[in-house]
Amino acid sequence: MNQILVVNSGSSSVKYQLIDIDSQVATTTGLIERVQNHSDAFVQMLTELGDAKPVAVGHRVVHGGSRFSQPTLIDDEVLLAIDELSPLAPLHNPGNLAGIRAAKAAYPHLPHVAVFDTAFHQTMPASSFRYAIDAALESKFQIRRYGFHGSSHSYVARKAAEVLGKPANQFTGVILHLGNGASACAIKNGKSFDTSMGLTPLQGLVMGSRSGDIDPAIIAYLARQASMSIDEIDASLNKNSGLLGMTGDADLRDVISRSDAGDQVATDALDVYAQRVKHYIGAYIAELGAIDAVVFTAGVGENSWQMRERIMRKLEHLGLELSNDANQVTNREARSIARAGSRVQILVIPTNEELEIAIQTAALI
Ligand code: ADP
Repeated sequence: MNQILVVNSGSSSVKYQLIDIDSQVATTTGLIERVQNHSDAFVQMLTELGDAKPVAVGHRVVHGGSRFSQPTLIDDEVLLAIDELSPLAPLHNPGNLAGIRAAKAAYPHLPHVAVFDTAFHQTMPASSFRYAIDAALESKFQIRRYGFHGSSHSYVARKAAEVLGKPANQFTGVILHLGNGASACAIKNGKSFDTSMGLTPLQGLVMGSRSGDIDPAIIAYLARQASMSIDEIDASLNKNSGLLGMTGDADLRDVISRSDAGDQVATDALDVYAQRVKHYIGAYIAELGAIDAVVFTAGVGENSWQMRERIMRKLEHLGLELSNDANQVTNREARSIARAGSRVQILVIPTNEELEIAIQTAALI
C-alpha cells in the first residue's frame, strides 16, 4: 500500500491522516489538541499510527508567499524560507514549521513535502493580485493578494470538471468555499484567476469570526476614535467580527436557528453574509465572461441548503436557476442542484484538502 501521511500542524493542535493513495481513502485520522510541544505531539502520533509505514509526509503550509507556486520537497533552505514568510502569516506558519521539524525528527528518512495554501493562486494575473497602493511600499513589503484555501479550490475545480465531463483545463467557474474561513475563487480554464482572500485570510467574504471586506479607513478611525492599539484592532477584525461579531454566534447553524425563531439580528447577519457572496459571484462572472458553474463547498457550502438558497435568490438573469428540491437533498456526493435546463450549472462538491495534499505529495515524489 502506498500511504501518504498528511500533517496539518497548527500552533496548538496537530491533525493528521494516513491516506492510501491508490484507493484515495484515509485509513487513519487523528487530532491531537492542546499541544504545548510539537515533539511530544509527534511521539503520541507515532504511537497512534502503530506499525503504519507511510512513503512520504505531506505538510499543509499556509503561506508560501510569491516564492512557492508548487508543492516543494522540504530541505533546510525551504524551512528557512517558510520561517521568513512568518510575518505574513504569524498565526499559522510558525505552527506549520514546528510540525515539520517534529515530523522530520520522527521520520528522518522519508521525503517531506510542503503543500502551500497560497500556491494554487500564483497563476492570478497582476490585475487580480495587485493592490493600488504606493508602489514603493508594495514592493518593499511584498504586499499583494496571495489567496488561501488553495488545496480546496484546486481539488474542487478538478472535481467540478469531472462532474461536467470536461478536461480540468477547460473548466471555468466560481468556487465558493464557505466554512469557518470562507473564500471565493474565479477559475479560468482550470487555474485560479482571482480570489477573495488577500495578503492574509482576512479579506473577502463574511466568515465565522472574520470581517472580510471593510473600508480600510475603519482601522485608522478606530485607532483614533476608540484608542485601540493595532493589535487590538487586528484581533477584533480576526476573532470578534463576522457572524460572531454581528450576532454573538460564529456557527451558521446557530444563526439560522435564531433567524427561524424570529431574531432580526440573526436575519440581518444572514443577509449581509449572503449579499457578500452574491457580490463576488457577480464580480467573477464579469471578470470571467461565460462560466460553466457556480460550485459550493466546505461546511456551510456543502451542508446549508438555507444559505445556498439565500445566496442564489434572484440570480436567474445570470443563467443560474436553483432547483429547490435538489437543493434540499442532503448527502455527501458531488451533485447538481440546478434546475434542468439552467444555462449555468450549480454544483455542491464536498472538498477534501487532506486528499489533495496527499495527491500532490505523491505526484512530487
Ligand atoms: P473549517 O473552515 O474550520 O474547515 P468547515 O469547512 O468544516 O470549517 O465549516 C465549519 C462551519 O460549517 C461551521 O462553523 C458551521 O457554521 C458550518 N456548518 C456545518 N454544517 C452546517 C449546516 N448543516 N448548516 C449550516 N452551517 C453548517
